[in-house]
Amino acid sequence: MSGKIFTNRGVFDETYIPSTLLVRDSEANVLITRYLSRLGEGSGSTDVTVLYGSIGKVGIGKTTLAKYVSRVLSKKAEDKGINFKPVYINVYGASSLHQILSRIVSELEMNIPVRGNATIEVLKAISDFLYIKDAYALIILDEFQSLLMSSKLSDDEFYLLLRVYEEIPPKDNINRLNFMLVSQDFRILSYMKERIPQVESQIGFRVHLRPYSSDELKTIIEQRAIEGLYENSYNQDILNMIADYYGYNDIKGGEGSARKAILTLRMAAEIADAENSGRIEERHVREALSTNAVSNIPLDIIRALSLHELLILQSISNLLVAKGGWLTSGEVEDEYSHLSYAYGEEPRKHTQFYEYIKNLNNMGLIESKISGKGIRGKTTIIRLPLDIPAERLKEVLESILLDRIGGPKP
Ligand code: ADP
Repeated sequence: MSGKIFTNRGVFDETYIPSTLLVRDSEANVLITRYLSRLGEGSGSTDVTVLYGSIGKVGIGKTTLAKYVSRVLSKKAEDKGINFKPVYINVYGASSLHQILSRIVSELEMNIPVRGNATIEVLKAISDFLYIKDAYALIILDEFQSLLMSSKLSDDEFYLLLRVYEEIPPKDNINRLNFMLVSQDFRILSYMKERIPQVESQIGFRVHLRPYSSDELKTIIEQRAIEGLYENSYNQDILNMIADYYGYNDIKGGEGSARKAILTLRMAAEIADAENSGRIEERHVREALSTNAVSNIPLDIIRALSLHELLILQSISNLLVAKGGWLTSGEVEDEYSHLSYAYGEEPRKHTQFYEYIKNLNNMGLIESKISGKGIRGKTTIIRLPLDIPAERLKEVLESILLDRIGGPKP
């Protein structure tokens, strides 16, 4: 029996690139236009584009953008009758210039032996090959910073590769070898300036990619959902939940990672599928986030809470275990009142209750917001952050309260 969730698991693969990019499309278009116009001219120095991310951020679309641009370029060049060949190499593990050139030779399907040939000879062969075929190559070197920061290539070798037209001037003065250097973050520019200043000054175009905002992530995972899931198996709330969790903004920070957002959607879908359920629900997303090893109950912070904050948090987790979703502050306050009496404590007044809610929110232990449509009047609604599972929190709180004031009174 086939499941009720996935129509195509393949679109959730790490290496899958959608046929159109809905986010980063403007960057892609600028790069495509730029390269296309160069392919027509071809003369002048080697074009070096640097594409870099933001410090400490991964999964923000650097590789995707580079590969997408080369894919679209291949197609457009073909339409125009231009012989264009993109070559993608992740140089993270590359051991030498010779090895990188061998990869280029094999990607270009040049069919010449490279073993035993000097580096310069191989480079010359590549240059001749492109001349004879009247072809252009775009060499994408991903993780370029790892190469620059190692000593695997000497400065001369970097120059040889990236300023190949100087050492081996093209016969017809047309430059057929261009480079796109993909790097972690902007520090690549100063490393280049230090080590290979003449290449740095030759950079024609720089693209800085920032971590994705929650709106951008929504667009990205919605596209995957449409391509890979049954229409009825998910809803916008599920997608928003994931996108808001990973989305980056200047105030709250956030990972801004498309990789994690897509992975979480996939995991939530897998969990729902394994239950033979027809829909992905909030609890599936929560479980996906916690098995994603992002689950964290901040024990130290919780242990430092005042008694009544603990009781409020306990009320929230009790209600969430029972019904999930968002809770109104009214129902939390009722539950808190019952729970306080159960523990033999007088519940605090309404104003104080609100102070505690604000505190818990500021500490990131709960999320609260003003309700929108659907609930009459405006009221504060509350839930746990997505990476704190209610069941686990309930157990933790019960044991802390047991230590603090003993169990509920009979
Ligand atoms: P990086 O190179 O910055 O680490 P990747 O390009 O490998 O990030 O992207 C990580 C994952 O997110 C990939 O599965 C990729 O398909 C997806 N992704 C990233 N950016 C986009 C985008 N703009 N549109 C669709 N999918 C994207």
